[in-house]
Amino acid sequence: MSMSALGEPCVLLKLGEIVLKGKNRDLFERRLVDNIREAVKELGLKLDVRKRHGVIAIFLPEGATAEQSEIVARRVADVPGLVWIHSAWRVAKDPDAVLKASLELVSEREEVKRGATFAVRSRRRDKRFPLRSNELDRLVGGAINDAYGLPVRLKDPELTVFIEVDRDEVFVFTDGIPGQGGLPVGSSGRALVLMSGGIDSPVAAYRMMRRGLHVDFLHFSGIPFTTSESIYKAYALVRKLDRFQGRSRLWVVPFGKAQQSIRTSGQDRLAVIAQRRLMLKTAEEVAHRIHAAALITGDALGQVSSQTLTNITAQDHAVELPILRPLVGWDKTEIMAEARRIGTLEISELPDEDCCSLLAPKRAETRAKIEDLKQIEKRLDAEELAVQLADSIQEYKL
Ligand code: ATP
Ligand code: MG
Repeated sequence: MSMSALGEPCVLLKLGEIVLKGKNRDLFERRLVDNIREAVKELGLKLDVRKRHGVIAIFLPEGATAEQSEIVARRVADVPGLVWIHSAWRVAKDPDAVLKASLELVSEREEVKRGATFAVRSRRRDKRFPLRSNELDRLVGGAINDAYGLPVRLKDPELTVFIEVDRDEVFVFTDGIPGQGGLPVGSSGRALVLMSGGIDSPVAAYRMMRRGLHVDFLHFSGIPFTTSESIYKAYALVRKLDRFQGRSRLWVVPFGKAQQSIRTSGQDRLAVIAQRRLMLKTAEEVAHRIHAAALITGDALGQVSSQTLTNITAQDHAVELPILRPLVGWDKTEIMAEARRIGTLEISELPDEDCCSLLAPKRAETRAKIEDLKQIEKRLDAEELAVQLADSIQEYKL
């Protein structure tokens, strides 16, 4: 590979939890590289994603600008499994090249204009490099100080220049942007999210993607007794979340008629839990068809009457697949802050006619008895109904 005088612009990615993996680390890294390649496709740049001694580097085409490298950095910042994303230069193993690249990188930073404090931190993984790391720090630090007049500050500098001397090359970079952390999507398998148009379920989906699950989305709409608004919201939410995993699919169940049958089967106070169990049974049926190994909900313990410990237990008993509830221990304020951060809150807060509002009893049961629920389900023929509902799903393509 030829390098211009300055080197090659690239984006350097620091891995998160993967580095704690033993024998399987390679598998996780390969999955992560695949996910990154998939995510940057939409940018239409000719990029080369490669594993490199414990980091991943994305090389940009020759002549690429700092702006393009920023665009790449921002896109990969959404890919789970990375903790830091740095715009960097890959340069030859020569102190002079390192010096030039450092000066160039710093010149692009806004900290220069306001005379911010800085420090240089070098690491020499290859001991054959002629300068020791503290010598390199002094050389580059001195030059930056001469060129731009920035004051050095070793403790808590406002700008840090990092220099990493590897076997074949040197990477020079400044402070990056934080990544999502977690594990590469797909490394834990597949699951199905029960996705309302509310605040909680999108956050639950995101948290499980970050633990390595690739998720499909299942939404129950009140159709034909409600409008399609909740479907549009679910669709908008899935689009928003897709940047974390790619290839998202939204499945919609027309649930209105089934809800009507639940209502007419008596036992007003149990309607909400009976309905939730029917949703779960339907979801389980769908999960089998799409090879998902778990269900995910946005339940938080005690948040509403359907989420008391007894009622959560009654829901667990409705299906055999595990129900993952990543928000079980979260406060509403914490969930909302996370929803805001990942960009789903403003969609969730749009008004809609949730299918659950069709069944709002005056007083909901907080301690549903499984025997009573089974009675209702017998009258409904819930198992058969769940299969019929699963047959009626429609896929909404992104
Ligand atoms: P959310 O904000 O996710 O709607 P919520 O606080 O409103 O949650 P509930 O309405 O009791 O709580 O729903 C609990 C969970 O049940 C939701 O997080 C979601 O996983 C699932 N769920 C509820 N309604 C629907 C729906 N219409 N379609 C799919 N899943 C749903
Ligand atoms: Mg809800």
